[in-house]
Amino acid sequence: MTPAGGAGPRSRRAFRRASRSLVGGVDSPVRAFGAVGGTPVFFARGRGAFVWDLDGRRYVDLVASWGAIVLGHAHPGIQRAVRTASVRGLSFGAPSPLEHELAERLIAAVPSIERLRFVNSGTEAVMSAVRAARGFTRREKIVKFEGGYHGHSDGLLARAGSGLATAAVADSAGVPRSIVRDTFVLPYNDLPAVRRLFERWGERIAAVVVEPVAGNMNVVPPAPGFLSGLSRLCRASGALLIADEVITGFRLRRGVIHTEYGARADLVTLGKIIGGGLPVGAYGGRPDVMATVAPEGPVYQAGTLAGNPVAMAAGSAALDALTPAVYRRLERTSRAIADSWTREARDAGIDDFSLPRVGSMLGVYFGPAAPRDYREALRVDRARYAAFFHALLEHGVYLPPSPLETTFVTAAIGSREIAAIQGAGAAGFAAVAGGPG
Ligand SMILES: *Cc1c(COP(=O)(O)O)cnc(C)c1O
Repeated sequence: MTPAGGAGPRSRRAFRRASRSLVGGVDSPVRAFGAVGGTPVFFARGRGAFVWDLDGRRYVDLVASWGAIVLGHAHPGIQRAVRTASVRGLSFGAPSPLEHELAERLIAAVPSIERLRFVNSGTEAVMSAVRAARGFTRREKIVKFEGGYHGHSDGLLARAGSGLATAAVADSAGVPRSIVRDTFVLPYNDLPAVRRLFERWGERIAAVVVEPVAGNMNVVPPAPGFLSGLSRLCRASGALLIADEVITGFRLRRGVIHTEYGARADLVTLGKIIGGGLPVGAYGGRPDVMATVAPEGPVYQAGTLAGNPVAMAAGSAALDALTPAVYRRLERTSRAIADSWTREARDAGIDDFSLPRVGSMLGVYFGPAAPRDYREALRVDRARYAAFFHALLEHGVYLPPSPLETTFVTAAIGSREIAAIQGAGAAGFAAVAGGPG
């Protein structure tokens, strides 16, 4: 599908050129528009709620760097912090106070984190948390859920084989069977399956890794009792619960959210928002578990650019800007968008549409009913999503170029942008109702 009004001539040229030097023309696969068709739009700049492409077209950005840019683009406070830090030096490879200043902010906001370590990405945060959990428990098995994305480290790039308690099959070439053999994959929101797994393997399970709200298979909230049940099962068997809050941390409120579901996590992973747009990840939690990490303990984990001063300054500035008023605004804006798109879909006669929403995480779902797990999420009508995506692009709204991702609202969106999103939505649902043309 190559819809009119897709990428303009400059984006097309840039993509052709990028494809000669970069694999697939991109540095992260979903950016390549493979799931929606057409040529990816290349961005030149962003400010507030908007991004501008190379052809000078403006879009309201509902990807927001996959949620990282919760305050909007080029936030003045973050830019100031970055400028100040950068004139003092870009990297030391030695300690600077900016690291503990951001750490203290995180510890103050996140009750389950007493000590932490900074890394450069969410992938590294989860990979390192799993290593710490294995080192601490001296066990090797881990449990994850279908459709849960925890970065691209080997052991976590696995989905289910089929059925209960089967060892996982890797999603990616290049991942040794010997590594995913230690990863169990279960359906999200299926606590009885976790209980059965623990009955058989409980004494060998080091950790359960879970997204408190699944945000990488559309938007799937946890069923009542799911997260607290995981917490209980882990505690009873001496396994650790790792709450992967790389998306949800500081997105739904200041701090993390697994605690709101009655779940106590032993380790928490963060990323995206806590870097203010620069590459940062963090893992932290119980002091006895974190004490197993080098140099205090035997679990090795390091980083040349970890705790980078510019990234730390950006993160602190972002957290300082995330006031209760920002979260109230995010909630109002998100509700307005969700309500109007839901109404517009109904008005267009589309009944297989739902919009699962948790705060400023929106799921745009063309399918039988809002998904409760990965299998249901996969029933999405991809062609309809692609039609909606391209209609919105044409009308100046940039959605995730994949039907399985979360649509992220930013605090920079005001009433004029909401009106633009509504107008684009009406055009999008009309395009979808018109069928694949
Ligand atoms: C994005 C994401 C990651 C990986 O973070 P990167 O910075 O892309 O490596 C891990 N876990 C979750 C839940 C994520 O959404």
